Amino acid sequence: MKLYKENQLKIYNSLSKTKEAFKPVHDGHIGMYVCGPTVYSNAHLGNLRTFMFFDVAFRYFLHLGYKVRYVRNITDAGHLENDADEGEDRIAKKARLEEIEPMEVVQRYTVDFHDVLKKYNFLSPSIEPTATGHIVEQIEMIKEIIDKGLGYEVNGSVYFDVIAYNKNNHYGILSGRKIEDAIHNTRVLDGQSDKKNPQDFALWKKADERHIMRWPSPWSEGFPGWHLECSVMSSKYLGDKFDIHGGGLDLKFPHHECEIAQSKTCSGHDPVNYWMHTNMLLLNGQKMAKSTGNFILPDEILTGENKILSKAFSSSVVRFFNMQANYRSILDFSSDALEASEKGYLKLMEAMTSLVSLSSQKSSSVDISQWKEKCYAAMNDDFNTPVLISHLFEGVKFINQIKEGKASITSNDLVDFVTTMNAFVFDVLGLLNDVKDQSSGKIDGVVSLLIKLRKEARENKDWDLSDQIRDELLAIGIQLKDGREGTTYSIS
Ligand SMILES: [Zn+2]
Repeated sequence: MKLYKENQLKIYNSLSKTKEAFKPVHDGHIGMYVCGPTVYSNAHLGNLRTFMFFDVAFRYFLHLGYKVRYVRNITDAGHLENDADEGEDRIAKKARLEEIEPMEVVQRYTVDFHDVLKKYNFLSPSIEPTATGHIVEQIEMIKEIIDKGLGYEVNGSVYFDVIAYNKNNHYGILSGRKIEDAIHNTRVLDGQSDKKNPQDFALWKKADERHIMRWPSPWSEGFPGWHLECSVMSSKYLGDKFDIHGGGLDLKFPHHECEIAQSKTCSGHDPVNYWMHTNMLLLNGQKMAKSTGNFILPDEILTGENKILSKAFSSSVVRFFNMQANYRSILDFSSDALEASEKGYLKLMEAMTSLVSLSSQKSSSVDISQWKEKCYAAMNDDFNTPVLISHLFEGVKFINQIKEGKASITSNDLVDFVTTMNAFVFDVLGLLNDVKDQSSGKIDGVVSLLIKLRKEARENKDWDLSDQIRDELLAIGIQLKDGREGTTYSIS
């Protein structure tokens, strides 16, 4: 039986502001869309927090046996500066400053983004569509919105009529903004705005001569508004009604509010059943943002090359640090906080290393089934990873007690225990055991030393010692191979 049948998941829905029992549109299947990065610069650690949380949610769905289609887009058509409807395309601006093609900017930062996610042990989404790959579909959706009477063209640009939409719908349903406050950041002071109402947002913008990224359309040579691509790509790959839409809290307004308005205009119903938002990552008490310079890059943590860090940390320590906080809480990053997480992480990994060598007894003094239930209950309660981690540490206590002979476990319980610990630590949280890697590094050092001693013994024609080193290593499963380039070894 699939695990999801016995695990009723509850998800905090930003739309209803309550925890709701999760029921997918199609039984056993989940469609999840997460707003991806804008590839005009490196993703910072705050961005990574959002993607990392959804990676863990994705991993948990897979663990429960759901068939998941996880779509995370790449915004490569460029948002306008300050996320306003006016201003310069950020990708184009970067390209102009660096005198390179906009698609070169896109390629550089897409590759970098993937590189970072790989180092941080992310699973790849099922589909990773790009905005520039869906211009045709975006133009089609604009036509549909115009046909429904909620889009209007002025001077080659097309806008969404928020006031008209709000007559029969609730604009502000997600963000809780009142319509009079839901004004889009537009430079209206210079009198250049073509919009009917300050609340309206762009679906298509006519490109001025400075604008490099441009496509032909029925209205002008231009580019799509920045909210459109997610409506288009989510409905294309997940249908016009899907399970989960996620992103950072700062995307709630205007981005997700506008997505709902666009999608609902076309389909006639709300596009998403569960809206999920991750909270901010602070850096020393301040919001992490590229625009203020208060940010740290994921790569800098791995190398230690940032003045706020006391040293380098592994990607799993960063993952562990993130998962020690609830995704809906603000998390404050600092070198001290990371050092504290590292201690906990190492303790967990040491226990995971000794877990495999535990031996069983005739009876269990530890209640594995109750412990296991608590682990699932934590994750089923809106992915409460900090509570899960506290239960995993109860598991660490079991491991140490069994190892020291202070507790016992039957072979059946041991199998269940090892399977559950491994599932949550490695499959669901996505941690890697760096400690094991360190010990294999130590083995390498010891074997290399023995190879060197054997070489010296052979040079001294001490065949007995040379053979003894070879045979005793072989007896513990390490085979030496003499070749033209020297001696190598393999572990069986
Ligand atoms: Zn989006």
